[in-house]
Amino acid sequence: MRVLVFNAGSSSLKFGVFDMFPDEGLAQAKHVFKGSFDRFGEGGCDYRSGVEENSVARAPHTTLSEAINAVPDVLAEEGITDIDAVGHRIAHGGPTFTKAAELSDRTLDEIRELTPLAPLHNPANLEAIDVARNVWPKVPHWGVFDTSFHLSNPARATTYAIPKDWRAAGLRRFGFHGTSHKYVAHRAAEALGTRLRDLRLISLHLGNGASACAIAGGASVDSSMGMTPLEGLVMGSRSGDVDPGLFGFLSRELGLTIPAIEAALYQDSGLKGLTGSSDMRDVEERAAEGDQDAQLAINLYAYRARKYIGAYAAAMGGLDALVFTGGIGENSPSMRRRICDGLEFLGLKLDHDRNLSVSLEGRAAVQIQAYGARVNVLVTETAEQLMIAHEVAGALFPANSPSIRIPVAVSARHVHLSRAAVDALFGPGYELTPDKPLKQKGHWDARERVSLHGPKGDIRNVAILGPLRERTQIEVSRTDGFALGLDAPIRQSGVLDGTPQIRLMGPEGHHDTDGLILASRHIHMNSEDARKHHLKDGDFVSVTLDETGRGLTFDKVLVRVSENAFTEMHIDTDEANAAGITGAVEGALQGEALIRGT
Ligand code: ADP
Repeated sequence: MRVLVFNAGSSSLKFGVFDMFPDEGLAQAKHVFKGSFDRFGEGGCDYRSGVEENSVARAPHTTLSEAINAVPDVLAEEGITDIDAVGHRIAHGGPTFTKAAELSDRTLDEIRELTPLAPLHNPANLEAIDVARNVWPKVPHWGVFDTSFHLSNPARATTYAIPKDWRAAGLRRFGFHGTSHKYVAHRAAEALGTRLRDLRLISLHLGNGASACAIAGGASVDSSMGMTPLEGLVMGSRSGDVDPGLFGFLSRELGLTIPAIEAALYQDSGLKGLTGSSDMRDVEERAAEGDQDAQLAINLYAYRARKYIGAYAAAMGGLDALVFTGGIGENSPSMRRRICDGLEFLGLKLDHDRNLSVSLEGRAAVQIQAYGARVNVLVTETAEQLMIAHEVAGALFPANSPSIRIPVAVSARHVHLSRAAVDALFGPGYELTPDKPLKQKGHWDARERVSLHGPKGDIRNVAILGPLRERTQIEVSRTDGFALGLDAPIRQSGVLDGTPQIRLMGPEGHHDTDGLILASRHIHMNSEDARKHHLKDGDFVSVTLDETGRGLTFDKVLVRVSENAFTEMHIDTDEANAAGITGAVEGALQGEALIRGT
C-alpha cells in the first residue's frame, strides 16, 4: 500500500511517500520519496527533494495551497502516480481523537472545533486537508494526531489544579509530538531486543519544539507539553515552563497585553530569548567562544531536560531507557552529555566515545550507555512521517478482513503469591488448594483467601490465583486503590519494579511486599489465532465492546501470544463497569495493531 504523508505548517509543507506492508510492520516500510516546500513568500519558496540527499532549489509557489496542487507533478516526475491513501499530520486532536481518523466532512468539522486549542497549527493542517482532498478525491484521507498517543496519560498528569469552570471549558494537559515519541519508543525497544511492554522509557524529542515523554509498557503516561505546545522544556523560541504569575506582573508593570505576552512566549523566548538565536548550532558555537548568555542558555536547556528525566523516572518508579531524538537530540553529543551528566544515581551513565561517534544511517537506533550501566541510552532519528504512514496503513488494512470477535473476561481483584508469601501467610511449606480451574490452562483459583491492608483501609476475602510465581503480584482496580489508600500504577503482569508496598494478611501472619498494580488490559491469544489475525506478541490493538449497555472502545490493549492460550481479553472491574458489562460478552478487534510489538 502506497501512502502519501503531509505535514503542513503555515510557512512550510513537508511530504513523503511510503510503501507500507501492513503484515510486516514498520521495519519493512520503504521510504520512496520525500520533499518539502519552505518559506512561502512573494517570490516563491525553497524546494528540497530526495530521500537520501537534500538538494535545494527555488519553486514558484507562494502559498501552502499552491504547493499542494504542485505535488502530483513533482511525484509524476519521479514516476509516482499511484497513491492509495493520504495521511495528514494534525497537531491537536483534543480529547476525542484517540487514534488515526478518516477525514470525512464530519471529522473535519470536529477538528475545526478544536482550533482554539491550537490556533497556530490546526488551521494550516485543515487547509492542507481541504486542498489535498480536492487533488486526490478518490483515495481515503486520514488524520494522525500529535496528541493521541498521550490520551493514555492518567488524570493526575493531565489535570491542572485550576477552578472547576476552567476545567469544564476544556483546559487540561494534552501533550504533543506523540507520533514521534511513539515511534522512537518502538524503535528503541526493537533495537534493545526487549518488548516495549516491559520497558519504562523516557523519550526526549529535542528539535525546534522540544518535549519529554514518559512511556511505560508502551503507553505514554506523562509528557512535558501541556494544553498547548508551550509548556515544558526550553525550546528554540518557546519558553517552556514559566510561572503563570508573569501574566499579571507584565500586564501591571509593563502594560503588556495578553496576546503580546503569549506571542513573546511562543516566538521570542527559549534559546532565542536567552541568546538572540533559536538555533542550537549558533548557541553552541557562541558558548564555545565564551559568550556568557549562550553558556547560560545551554546550561538551562540541559538542566530543564535533566529535571524532567528525574521527574519521569519517579513517575514510573524507575527507568530502563532514555532515548534522544530531534535535531538537537540526534546531532549534539555535547548536549546529550550535559543532560546525562549527574544522573549516575539513576544507573544512567554514558560511554563518551560512543556518544561522540553516533551514526544514524538507515534508521539506526544507537546505544551510547557505558558498559554495564543499568539504564540504556539511545539516539535515533525521529520518523514521524513514516509513523503516520504506518498508522494509516494499519487503519485501512482491516477494511478487507471480516470483524474478529474476542471473548471478554472481567478480572476481579486477586493476588499471585510467591513461595515466601505463602510461607508467611499460611505457614512454612503450606500448599495452596486448587479449587476451580481457570480458562488459561494450568491456572487455578485457590480455596484460600487473603486480606489486603493499606494505609486507608482493608479489603478482605481476596482471591489467590495459582500456581505460585517468582514474585508476588496484587491486581486491584483503581477504586480498590482508593479504598486501600495506595496509588497502584497501570502495569503489565510481571513488570513490578517500583510498584507500591502493601501488607497481605493471612491466617498465620502477614507479608509486606511490593507488586500492587492495576493490570493493564490485555488479550491472551494462542499462536494459531495470532497467525490468523496477523498479530504478534507485544502488539497493541483496539477492541470495541459493541454489545454492552455502555458501548466502549478500549485502545492500547496488549496482545500476549502463547502457544496454548485460551484467546480472551481481560479487563478489570472498573473497566467492565465503564462499559456496562453485565454478563458474557464479546468485543470486536479493531484493525491492525496500533503499535507493533518487537
Ligand atoms: P523541527 O522541530 O523544526 O523539526 P529539528 O528537529 O530539525 O527541528 O531540530 C532543529 C534544531 O536542531 C535546531 O536548534 C538546530 O540547531 C539543531 N541542530 C541540528 N544539527 C545540530 C548539530 N549538529 N548540533 C547541534 N544542534 C543541531
